[in-house]
Amino acid sequence: MAQGTRRMDLGDFQQLIEKMYSHKDRERGAAGTFLWLMEEVGELAAVIGERADEASKQDEFADVLAWLATLANVEGVDLSDAVQAKYGRGCPGCGGMVCVCDAKP
Ligand SMILES: [Mg+2]
Ligand SMILES: [Zn+2]
Repeated sequence: MAQGTRRMDLGDFQQLIEKMYSHKDRERGAAGTFLWLMEEVGELAAVIGERADEASKQDEFADVLAWLATLANVEGVDLSDAVQAKYGRGCPGCGGMVCVCDAKP
């Protein structure tokens, strides 16, 4: 781990984002937050396409996850619960812990 004092799980990260930004996020609302998320997805696409250095890639992955967490906070969705419910017991398509189906999540 390059920075920080300990690893964060998804729930910790969503709470951190809530603590740092919720006062701005609630005011911006879901539609504006979604646009920011899409902008960051575009930046991620660019660094993947450019085969950019590892630090830039890491940075853009962090941004996308931060804005996804922000949107989840605005919408009142607990990301950790959401991923557990959908993927925690295996592939939603075939139920396997190693997917053997053609379903796309
Ligand atoms: Mg970015
Ligand atoms: Zn499957």
